[in-house]
Formats: sequence, structure tokens, C-alpha cells
Amino acid sequence: MQLNFSSLKNLLSVPKNIVLTSHTNPDGDAVGASLAMFLFLSDQGFNVSVILPNAFPDYLAWMEGSNKVILYDKETAKCDQLMAEADILFSLYYNHPNRIGDAEQAFVHSKAKKVLIDHHIQPRLEAYDLAFSTVETSSTSELVFDCIMQLQPSGLSKAVAECIYAGIMTDTGSFSYACNSEKTFRIVADLYKAGINGVKINRMVYNTFSESRLRLLGYALSEKLKVLPQFATAYISLTLDELNRFNYQVGDTEDVVNYALSIKGVRFAAMFIESDKKIRVSLRSVGDFKVNTFAREHFEGGGHKNAAGGDSYISMQKTLEKFEQLLPLYQNELTEK
Ligand code: 5GP
Repeated sequence: MQLNFSSLKNLLSVPKNIVLTSHTNPDGDAVGASLAMFLFLSDQGFNVSVILPNAFPDYLAWMEGSNKVILYDKETAKCDQLMAEADILFSLYYNHPNRIGDAEQAFVHSKAKKVLIDHHIQPRLEAYDLAFSTVETSSTSELVFDCIMQLQPSGLSKAVAECIYAGIMTDTGSFSYACNSEKTFRIVADLYKAGINGVKINRMVYNTFSESRLRLLGYALSEKLKVLPQFATAYISLTLDELNRFNYQVGDTEDVVNYALSIKGVRFAAMFIESDKKIRVSLRSVGDFKVNTFAREHFEGGGHKNAAGGDSYISMQKTLEKFEQLLPLYQNELTEK
């Protein structure tokens, strides 16, 4: 759905209190899109806050404005007040208010105008006054770029361009999927014109692993990877004890599921990460197998066709049994030529 830019311009025509929000367990696109919008709108004279449901990985903390992010799980009362007093609330990179966890109620009950900017399928449009929602786009950061260009076509600051680049880069696996369009690369060219150093951003995001993160990756691949060739499937599971053994920090398991998917012949990959409340499920596929449908039907989740997630509230062992028992139902789909 195309955003009605003149309505957004009208909404932003007088000074406003704006709150930007993004999804639980924020990743590069969530943080990049939020901070790009934060820097842009702050520069335009708005009073802007960024609220994220919980912590984001350290390797994203180089982005300008990252020290201004307020975490809902740490400063709940302050966040509730900001959302109650906001004139405009933005949902960036999520399609339903239930994706912001405990912040959902404050979001839903706020009298603010609500604007959605996102690239997931099936957005909950009833929850919004304005929506910019298209699945063909590489990332939400790309949509934020489009918004900014409509609102102020004269150009981007370098700091805004860096956030957008980080968002696009991380959501396309460093330009390896979901970016088969000339438009994405034209935008990247514009970001370079604004002064970014893509090589440096890549290094800051991908080459700043802690030793324990690297060892956790090694352990996950050598000890915890299970390959089921008859279902073209591979999965990795990590319990809380195992994570603690490797001094787990937020973001340490990001992208690990993609190693399972990189095995020749594997079309469906899953990762199961235990926390104190639940098992977090990450799903990836290549080709037509719709992991968002699988996540929705079996793990209370959703997402994109080839990258989705969900949760399981039974033990790790039972979750893995459940997963393996589901695979025969999909065997034809997963193995057909
Ligand atoms: P990840 O595996 O990286 O946590 O999530 C992959 C993608 O799936 C995310 O970009 C997000 O779009 C989507 N996703 C993850 N978890 C959920 C969930 O619980 N519900 C929905 N609707 N989407 C999710």
C-alpha cells in the first residue's frame, strides 16, 4: 500500500511530539530504520523519541542516535508516558502492534495518529491512520529512504545515510537476498553520494565479534547442527545452559540459522534458542517454501516468505520433537524438484 505522502506531510506540518517504535529483539533494519527516521525528524525540529521493546546488539551501537534509544523493558513508565503524550506514533518494521511485546497496550491506547512503515505481508491496517506497506522492498530502511526523499528531496545527511545502509545491508544478508531490484542499488548509490563508507559499515556490523560469540558459533555448527536430508532440512538448537557457557550477549546468535541453510540440498533451516521464558524459533528457506505460514501455523509467529520467526512455550526437547514430527507433512513440498 502506497503511503499518501501529502497526508504525511500534513501530519508533519506543525511541531509535534513523535515516538518511533520497532519490533522486539530489534535487528539491523529495526535499529537502522528507527534511527534514520529519528535523526531526520529531529533535524526538522520535531521532538522525537525512539522506543524499542528490548536491547539491540552492541554491533549496531555505532549508529548516531543509538545512545538516545529508550528500552521499554528498562524504562517502562517513561515509555508509557511518552506514548500517551505523543501526537504521532510510528510503527517501523513490524506489521501488527502485538510485535512490540509489553509495549503493545500503551501503543494501542495512545490517542496519537499512527503511521505504519513496513515490508511484511498482511499488515494490520485497521490499527493505523496512515500506512506505507509493501512486501517487494528490500527492507524497511529502504521505505524510510523513500519517505525522507518525499518529505525533503534535497538530500540526506551522512548519519541518516549510514543508518539506512546498515538497515538495507543487514536485511538483505549483505545484498545476497531480497534485493533483486535496480532500485535498491540506486538507493545505495545515493547513500554513497551522501558520504557513507559501506566497507567500514560492513566491518562494524560483521567483523566485531567477541571471542565467545565466535566460539558459540563454532560449537553450534560442530555440536548442535542436525541435518535431515530426507526433508531437505537442517536445524540448530541452543539451550540456556549452552548460551551461558559461551557468555551469551544479545545478537550473538543473529544469522547463525543461515549457516544451516547454506548446506547443499537444504531448503529449510531452523534455529531454536532457549530463554528463561520460551524457545525462540527462527526459520529460513530458499525457494517457494513459506516459512511465514509454517511459523504462523505452528509457532505463533510470522514474517516473510523466506525468513520468519515465532515462539514455543514447551520445553526444548518437546519443541524439537514437535518440529521433527511436522516435517513429514511438508516432505513433498520440501523435496520436490
Ligand atoms: P528472526 O528469525 O531473525 O528472529 O526473524 C526473521 C523475520 O521474521 C523477522 O525479520 C521478522 O520479520 C519475522 N518474525 C520473527 N519473529 C516473528 C514473530 O514472532 N511474529 C511475526 N509476525 N514475525 C516474526
